[in-house]
Amino acid sequence: MHEKPVVLVTGANKGIGLQIAKDLSMHGLTVVIGSRSLKAGEFAAKSVGDDARAVQLDVTDPASIAGAANWIRNELGRLDVLVNNAGISRADVPDRSFDQAAATDPLTVASLDEVRTVFETNVFGVIAVTQAMLPLLREAPAGRVVNIGSSAGSLTLNSDPAHPRPWMFGAYSASKAASHAITVAFAAEFESAGIKVNAACPGFTSTDLNDFRGTRTVGEAAHEPVRLALLDADGPTGTLSNEDGPVPW
Ligand code: NAP
Repeated sequence: MHEKPVVLVTGANKGIGLQIAKDLSMHGLTVVIGSRSLKAGEFAAKSVGDDARAVQLDVTDPASIAGAANWIRNELGRLDVLVNNAGISRADVPDRSFDQAAATDPLTVASLDEVRTVFETNVFGVIAVTQAMLPLLREAPAGRVVNIGSSAGSLTLNSDPAHPRPWMFGAYSASKAASHAITVAFAAEFESAGIKVNAACPGFTSTDLNDFRGTRTVGEAAHEPVRLALLDADGPTGTLSNEDGPVPW
């Protein structure tokens, strides 16, 4: 079995996931970059350092998920931390601009196909990958799961009329609210096994997800997910937070 703790970060070939991978590598973990494109994952792994590898992982593809779990077991024999980072804000439609996509996010106009596509990655993908990695996480001395949530999915904030409407308030924000619900459910189920499951809100960050309109850097965004990935035995479970503290569900 691999000596060092191992982390799998989904969707880590770019954006916040890649930064989380880099930061956790600096903290001494062996990093597995989950990437839809193995080539892009291998390229990203090189930028992380010597102790990073890539695995093909599409979180919407059951065969790909099972293959990644088998690869981790066979190659490394352990998984200590799972970061469910892979996410989309919109379906990938050829010849559609970001603004056109954003305009169809509100639920009054969103197509159900698009809502399903967003939920496939942001919601069902999180459940599927967590289930597949469960046997490995159970064997880890201190299993940790970090889901990348968002204040855009905060029911408390968004039902306050005084709170400014979040960006992509519709299909995307609903998917993030669902990812928060998943966090609470997994945390409750995992508690007796000592596995901590928390959600991090990275803040509005400049990445492909929002056509690089976010105001935060990936370095800032990775801070809270990394902290939650490294929680010690006294750390919380079933929480949503950013680097300033708890974020309301
Ligand atoms: P990003 O740069 O677009 O990165 C998203 C990553 O997810 C990419 O690696 C992408 O891979 C991957 N991905 C998409 N669909 C996938 C699938 N089916 N299977 C596996 N990987 C898939 O966006 P980001 O901002 O870093 O987003 C990372 C996470 O942060 C997401 O969960 C997002 O919802 C969350 N978040 C972002 C912000 C923000 O302001 N940026 C705010 C709050 C929360 P490809 O390269 O193959 O597309």
